[in-house]
Amino acid sequence: MRENYSSGSTGMPVRLYQSQEYRDWYAAELDRSYLGCRPFRLGMPRAFFWGTDIDSRAHRGATGTARDALVNVLWFDAFALRRDGLRAAVRRLRAFRPALVIGYVSTLTEVARALDGALDALAAVITAAETLTPPELTLIAESFGAPVFDRYATREVGTIAHECEAHAGLHIVMENNIVEIVGPDGQPRSEPGDEGEIIITSLRNLATPLVRYRLSDMARLGGEGCSCGRHSVRLDSVLGRTSDLIVSPRGVLLHALFFMRLFDKAPVHRFRVDQETPSRLRIRVVPAADYSDEVRQRITSGILEHGDSAFEVAWEIVTEIAATPSGKFRFTVSHVAKGEATPPERD
Ligand SMILES: [Zn+2]
Repeated sequence: MRENYSSGSTGMPVRLYQSQEYRDWYAAELDRSYLGCRPFRLGMPRAFFWGTDIDSRAHRGATGTARDALVNVLWFDAFALRRDGLRAAVRRLRAFRPALVIGYVSTLTEVARALDGALDALAAVITAAETLTPPELTLIAESFGAPVFDRYATREVGTIAHECEAHAGLHIVMENNIVEIVGPDGQPRSEPGDEGEIIITSLRNLATPLVRYRLSDMARLGGEGCSCGRHSVRLDSVLGRTSDLIVSPRGVLLHALFFMRLFDKAPVHRFRVDQETPSRLRIRVVPAADYSDEVRQRITSGILEHGDSAFEVAWEIVTEIAATPSGKFRFTVSHVAKGEATPPERD
């Protein structure tokens, strides 16, 4: 058995043990998801922009560098990457000629902005750990010059679902986990389009059994079957954390995707919506060049019209929006208690 930790946003990670059997199935599943990114073949160069200390530790020092070279991996510590170091990182990345780039959505967005032309040997980009928004997807695909495959995984149970070449939702890895979607009433939902909290039962790790484990993430179910030929059930999309869910004064449920759609193509680099009281929203934006009062008015009207007219919306222009202590970015945060414990961070 080996110890592993969830990357806890509160600084109190959940500790668990994982068996050799679990790790083998996890590794096999990872390889299979890489092989789905044709024409990638095992052994081809892979570049990672990854961050947690536990993951990065294995890549430090002479031993780490030697091991990486042996398996053809270039590792960037995403949390140590600073904006003024991006140019140098891009040069190293280009010289390495990766066939796959794997990383956090927010880090890859920054790298995409610093890229000066596509990477010519690249088969695909795999994004993980944060919700991939349509503008970020477009930016990453265009800058890197390769299709983007989204992956949904956690340290506790491994890969839960990942995108295929049809890019029509994320196939659930049914061999390794039982994935349930439950509504607010606690009852499982099974129809395509149903939304709810994700509950996981790991089939592979008997070292610390996780049975109907709550990850505090929300997802929408997709249909069965896919034009790619795989038959596993798909998640239409992962909607974000339950703690990111904003419940309006009239009880309308607004997840991060609602706000992402409103901000789609809006001239802002970043935004974050905080529900400070049940009726008060504070929106912070890092404005881009074309930002104006009209943008603000249009989005406010969208919130009042399609969300809840009882909201009072305050805007604030900022130069930067900080990530969570574990380096991940959240678009919406509700400070209104829903009577839940602080959940572990998604990885
Ligand atoms: Zn498919």
